[in-house]
Amino acid sequence: MATLSTPLGKVLGDKTAAALTETLGLATVGDLLYHFPRRYAERGEHTDLSALQVGDQVTVLAQVQRVNVRPMRQRRGNLLEVTVGDGQRTLTLTFFNQAWRQRQLTVGRWGLFAGKVTEFRGKRQLNGPDFQLLSDPGEAAEDNTEIEEFLGALIPVYPAAATMPSWTVARCVRVALDTLEPPPDPLPESLRADHELVGLAAALHDIHRPSSWQARAAARKRLTFDEAFALQLTLVQRKARAADWPAVQRPRRTDGVLAAFDARLPYQLTDGQLAVGEEVAEDLARPHPMHRLLQGEVGSGKTVCALRAMLQVVDSGGQAVLLAPTEVLAAQHHRGLAALLGDLARTGPAPADGELPLGDEAAGATGLALLTGSLPAAARRRVLADIAAGTAGIVVGTHALLYQGVEFADLGLIVVDEQHRFGVEQRDALRDKATQPPHVLVMTATPIPRTVAMTVFGDLSVSSLTELPRGRSPIATHVVPGNRERWMERTWARVREEVAAGHQAYVVCPRIGVDPTDEDADEGAPADDERRPPLGVAEVAPQLADGPLAGMRVGQLTGRLPADQKDAVMRAFAAGELDVLVATTVIEVGVDVPNATVMVVLDADRFGVSQLHQLRGRVGRGSAPGLCLLVSEAAPESPAHERLTAVASTVDGFRLAELDLEQRREGDVLGAAQSGRRSHLRLLSLLSDAKLIAEARDEAVRVIEADRELTEHPLLAETVAALVDEDRAEYLEKG
Ligand code: ADP
Ligand code: MG
Repeated sequence: MATLSTPLGKVLGDKTAAALTETLGLATVGDLLYHFPRRYAERGEHTDLSALQVGDQVTVLAQVQRVNVRPMRQRRGNLLEVTVGDGQRTLTLTFFNQAWRQRQLTVGRWGLFAGKVTEFRGKRQLNGPDFQLLSDPGEAAEDNTEIEEFLGALIPVYPAAATMPSWTVARCVRVALDTLEPPPDPLPESLRADHELVGLAAALHDIHRPSSWQARAAARKRLTFDEAFALQLTLVQRKARAADWPAVQRPRRTDGVLAAFDARLPYQLTDGQLAVGEEVAEDLARPHPMHRLLQGEVGSGKTVCALRAMLQVVDSGGQAVLLAPTEVLAAQHHRGLAALLGDLARTGPAPADGELPLGDEAAGATGLALLTGSLPAAARRRVLADIAAGTAGIVVGTHALLYQGVEFADLGLIVVDEQHRFGVEQRDALRDKATQPPHVLVMTATPIPRTVAMTVFGDLSVSSLTELPRGRSPIATHVVPGNRERWMERTWARVREEVAAGHQAYVVCPRIGVDPTDEDADEGAPADDERRPPLGVAEVAPQLADGPLAGMRVGQLTGRLPADQKDAVMRAFAAGELDVLVATTVIEVGVDVPNATVMVVLDADRFGVSQLHQLRGRVGRGSAPGLCLLVSEAAPESPAHERLTAVASTVDGFRLAELDLEQRREGDVLGAAQSGRRSHLRLLSLLSDAKLIAEARDEAVRVIEADRELTEHPLLAETVAALVDEDRAEYLEKG
């Protein structure tokens, strides 16, 4: 008898085992049994052959409809052409010089056919496919007995390799199942009963050899639960462990800079901001590090929440750092914080080299420093000295700051703004910056659907700002057909009207555009061979300036500009010295120019739903209403056009984030496991398994609360932790 850890060679023989290892990376019985079928074929079932993509390695179940042998036209030999169908479409199989196969491939026979899809004269075909015929019901079995057992049942189709057809995998799985000693079930009976889960042994059998769709569904549910549960155990445990680390307590003081700041805040905090403020204040006062995610729409006022947290830390004698994804945003944050703080901040200017420009702490104000890569060497030295001495209470920078030998006197809080890629590695880097782990607040404007929050960010506490501050103007969004001249004229006329009224405009393009010195001009949306190349800033800006927007001050902003130039352009736009800013998605995050009222997004179908939502958040930040025009040449009924219509029809970021998730291809989020690249999450889907994930989460919380030091739970695989970070990065990169 074999167990899940028995090497395949012991069960299948060395040759077959070596082939499985080589082609599919499977080494043990467990590896093989967790190599799940990609799908199941049913005789007579209408799998749509038209869905076959040229270039795909496929296995199809189909019936022979026509057989024909003809001599080759250009060379000697003959060609056997077999037309197979599944009831809807047909597929041609070709065999060179194998006319004898006519005797096997007789009309009416069903078989599994495997090969790479090619196209010839507009028809899909498989050249010299591998195949396995099924015998007709009632007919005596031939030599392929394993397949016979599938008669009338579901035939598993495995992710296969060219040299390892699906049916060979099926045969090996069957041998493995037959010799497997039923594995111990890591889930206790009571838990299985609670969630209506079948036993592990039954699940492993039925996922491969289901007697019905029902049996298969039960097997899938059980194995999917295992994945969700293992993931949640890891996340919840990680969260519990992090909560046990020691941290310096930074309780709120009533007589410090924060109190002075609150007293002179020019507006009232929203209820949401106050509630988040309390959550964060309590976290900071605890002797364990905060790990909190603050999510809120663009413009919901996250910055002031972060600033108040930073001031609380400053009041207790510590330092806080605010990390932005780009230098432009860091510089903008620095200006913004300086403006909010007024004389509560000392920002320099710096006196002679070597002296500490920010003065000492006693003055009832805090030092505010900006540290970016483009700082001149002398200024940089001074800032570093301020940070090391602790006179810089608040430091703003890009996250490169974490990796460049910056020493803090007493780092108490790290705020990460609009930063998605924030995994274990970054947190480890942060922890090294302080004698005790600092508190961490991550802010994002990308609305995160619940299951994603639970899975991808499952080890963070979450706060949400759900309302926008009062006085916010609504944004109207319209889809504009880009190939209709009259509509485009009207679009540019709207821009001219806004500018004439003293407002400003953004024009967003998917690409940077041509730079003779740079081949790699993509930014934001990827190019696509079948359509015309996406519009680029470098081309669009001069065309507008010489054409429909003649006479206006048109600037360009792309990621290709050096940091200081980017900053200069942003400043000029913020100061009203430019009327129109033609830009890539570099303006997506954080940019705040309340006077900008209109945004035209060109080739809007090249952007994701959430991305468009983020982009339009740049307008309507002031008291005048915002207008967003999504220009696209996508056909009215196309999915691309529907996405744009969806964006135009709602400003509910959470709804749009869910839509985004729905529209991602399987495999883009956690489903990437399906491709076989991942070793732990094969079945779990963030979208369709939302309920299961929530159940697994609750169970995991119960288990970990009962036993925090749980290390031996059979499903607790530390390796899953690494996956989480990979997935988080992947998820957010696309968002
Ligand atoms: P985001 O959440 O996108 O980072 P910001 O923090 O940049 O949003 O805030 C957007 C704008 O709203 C800023 O100009 C800020 O001064 C303003 N703001 C924030 N909170 C309030 C409030 N409670 N009342 C009025 N205006 C506010
Ligand atoms: Mg912001």
